[in-house]
Amino acid sequence: MDWAKFDRDAGSIQAGAHQGLGHKSLLQSDDLYQYILETSVYPREPEPMKELREMTAKHPWNTMTTSADENQFLNMLLKLINAKKTMEIGVYTGYSLLATALALPQDGKILAMDVNRENYELGLPIIEKAGVAHKIDFKEGPALPVLDQLIEDDKNHGTFDFIFVDADKNNYLNYHKRLIELVKVGGLIGYDNTLWNGSVAAPANAPLPEYLIYYRQFVLEVNKALAVDPRIEICMLSVGDGITLCRRIK
Ligand code: SAM
Ligand code: CA
Repeated sequence: MDWAKFDRDAGSIQAGAHQGLGHKSLLQSDDLYQYILETSVYPREPEPMKELREMTAKHPWNTMTTSADENQFLNMLLKLINAKKTMEIGVYTGYSLLATALALPQDGKILAMDVNRENYELGLPIIEKAGVAHKIDFKEGPALPVLDQLIEDDKNHGTFDFIFVDADKNNYLNYHKRLIELVKVGGLIGYDNTLWNGSVAAPANAPLPEYLIYYRQFVLEVNKALAVDPRIEICMLSVGDGITLCRRIK
């Protein structure tokens, strides 16, 4: 599946509203969402986050990126749980990666994976300028083989404080199978886009763009599986395009 092509298609469908494809917000009122951004997000936004957000907005695949309010949330969450060792699957230009890197202590670490290095390198100069690039270990390529390699060594089991998954939705369950071994008990996995532009609640035959229809079945399957997984507690938030937080309990 050409993920990037789908995202480009999604970009051309976007009507400009926050609810358009592109994970900005599921709020039904654009004015209310704008209020949140202008009142509590933008005035507190670290300069490098602003720079990376504005740079990404000019990129042709910008609908892929996470939203500013979601990254403010992730940044606070990481601080609240004192995250030190983290992972990100799906980096794009590095906007959520920078939000993570800024939240970690100086000796914090992020294993970041993406099949596309080029886009990561667009954001890298900003991440470097922010003084947090040393926390990032970027691996170019599909994430699954990297996870399989990590799993092979028992020493990696139960060691990650936080894992953010924001890549190919058709692999989320494959990721979950492995990540549940790698996250520590009490640690968190965040699965992004679990409300899939609201399409998870649309009638099965609703006239939706091909992009949404194709991945919806996978997102629905993931949501069902997470809801009954006894190894985790979950919380589905309507921030951005929906993020499901999974806290490993055993
Ligand atoms: N978190 C990013 C942000 O805040 O801007 C957005 C990530 S974007 C929605 C999804 C990314 O997943 C793309 O950059 C794509 O190249 C990457 N991706 C797709 N399939 C992948 C795979 N199998 N392994 C690793 N990365 C993958
Ligand atoms: Ca996302």
